[in-house]
Amino acid sequence: MVLVVSISNMHYYACEHCLYLYRELETAESCEQWCKTHNSCNSKILEKSVGRIRRYRTARLEEVFPSR
Ligand SMILES: [Zn+2]
Repeated sequence: MVLVVSISNMHYYACEHCLYLYRELETAESCEQWCKTHNSCNSKILEKSVGRIRRYRTARLEEVFPSR
């Protein structure tokens, strides 16, 4: 199930398997579909990722955007 993460009033979508974060729900869904089927990540989908969360319940801005 795709996770919804809200950061600074913006919503992002994370793949529950790999915890990579996407702006588009459809991208997160295709990532999750791929992860489930192949048990690994699709590099084409990962290119669209905006970051990665470690634990979604405690996701903070610096966890998602470590470069800031
Ligand atoms: Zn994934």
